[in-house]
Amino acid sequence: MTLEEDTELREAIRKVTLLNATQHDGKAQTGPVIGKILGEKAELRTRVKELSILVNDVVREVNNLTLHEQKRIVEEKWPESLRKEKVEEEKRLPPLPNADKYAKVVTRFSPNPDCVLHLGSARAIILCNEYARMYKGMLILRFEDTDPKMKRPVLEFYDRIREDLTWLGCKVDEEYIQSDRIPIYYEYAEKLLKDGNAYVCTCNPGQFRERILSREPCDCRDLAPEEHLRRWQRMLEGGYNEGEAVVRVKTDLDHPNPAVRDWPALRVIDTEKYPHPRVGSKYRVWPLYNLACGIDDHLLGITHIIRGKEHLTNMVRQEYMYKHLGWKYPEAIHYGRLKITGAFLSKSKIVQGIREGIYKDWDDPRLATFAALRRRGITPEAIKKMIIDVGPKTSDVVLSWENLYAYNRKILDPTSDRYFFVHDPVELTVKQIPKVLKAKLPLHPDNPERGFREYTITPKGEDKTATFWITKKDVDAAGTGRTIRLMELFNIKLENTKAYSAEASFVSEPYEEARKTKAQLIHWIPIGEDLPCQVIMPDATISEGIAEGACKQLKPNTIIQFERFGFVRIDANNTKLTAYYGHK
Ligand SMILES: [Zn+2]
Repeated sequence: MTLEEDTELREAIRKVTLLNATQHDGKAQTGPVIGKILGEKAELRTRVKELSILVNDVVREVNNLTLHEQKRIVEEKWPESLRKEKVEEEKRLPPLPNADKYAKVVTRFSPNPDCVLHLGSARAIILCNEYARMYKGMLILRFEDTDPKMKRPVLEFYDRIREDLTWLGCKVDEEYIQSDRIPIYYEYAEKLLKDGNAYVCTCNPGQFRERILSREPCDCRDLAPEEHLRRWQRMLEGGYNEGEAVVRVKTDLDHPNPAVRDWPALRVIDTEKYPHPRVGSKYRVWPLYNLACGIDDHLLGITHIIRGKEHLTNMVRQEYMYKHLGWKYPEAIHYGRLKITGAFLSKSKIVQGIREGIYKDWDDPRLATFAALRRRGITPEAIKKMIIDVGPKTSDVVLSWENLYAYNRKILDPTSDRYFFVHDPVELTVKQIPKVLKAKLPLHPDNPERGFREYTITPKGEDKTATFWITKKDVDAAGTGRTIRLMELFNIKLENTKAYSAEASFVSEPYEEARKTKAQLIHWIPIGEDLPCQVIMPDATISEGIAEGACKQLKPNTIIQFERFGFVRIDANNTKLTAYYGHK
């Protein structure tokens, strides 16, 4: 028997293919299907070539179905496999190291409020929050705003960041702002200086670099602590200009990484020239990242630091300071980089683009800021699910917008109502409609209980005509003389098409006829029961068109699906509907 004739085998392939398709947004992949079949039927290993022809055929057939049709078949024939899939989907994060050693797990998210948050921060935020919840611990939000010159904080971003965290579903248990804590950093700086574990270096940077690269102390390093305390006082009192003095924490001068050796901890910033947005010119000496972060992690009782592996060197630096102060370094988990291809994740480029007017605002659809994602109807649940699936592994992960869209689609598909949107509208006149017809369109194809949109088509005049809006693309694709079906209404034959008008005549009502002739199913809106509509696309272009009348009652923030177009979020709805496009 050829494999082609083996109906049992074909059915087995169909099952595997359908399951694979429903797990991959309706598109089954040949490779995994063949792999699965060979795993179940080892005897076919000698007939792979024949098998792959058969699989290819089934995959093509399955991929031609919509995701809904695929799910319906699976539900009907193999409901048990669907349940299994759901269990597998619920992924948990791996446990934190040594969590049981601490009375309470405390994590922290510590942004610099010099920009709004974007997708690049999602991993830190979600992992810190999820772990705090998983262990019934605490999440601390700490604003790291101690660089009023180069990474200048901006007041509005403190609030925008809080807003983003709330939207992402994070529960912040405590909040700290480093610019409120400057006296604390001074206190520990003094202690380090007094104990001879830090020094005030007044060398010029070039000189210092030369020495440190050859593993030698600079002229300041070995002076008595009293001298360094004097210099420290002078720093605080304004006796040094920017760049003239820096507090350095002593490390091993032989450390293999020169960037670790005697790292800078505090420096002078001319806050008359660069006032801090919160504390103005009150302080001239500002802690650098490793001093402020290291001291806070200890004082705030952080048990688990969860951050990107680009911070590994910072951990090495801070461990010297912890040793000097007799502290124990928290558990540290360093995850790999998460790259989203095509997403624009450089803070400085975002800020620059806004300043230059390239982007209208922080929620410009071209940006990957949380504000922009929110406006486009990307749900926080989708972001969370994607991040948890990736987990805290150390290898780099590259995801695409499509990955995020797939997560979002899974969440929106069962809950979003369907409506028609005709972009680039063409006025269609249909003649010879035999009687008054009612169209009853389900708000959701799988859940009739969600209700319907209903339109009555009343033919008028001698020619018994009715007029509709349809999309130009559909008219062009069909061409004159072809039969097409207005979804859930009737079949028509296009007779005459011009640039923005078309004529057709009524053919028949039954769907079966359209199916037999493989007529294209298109969406439509009765002229008169319409609403002007604009959809802001991800590239910030505007797709102008017409939404069906039933959309008039949609409230802003509702996410719907415009059939055959994509998921959109209603942004405003008065005399004109404005929506933001999410994805297909
Ligand atoms: Zn020096």
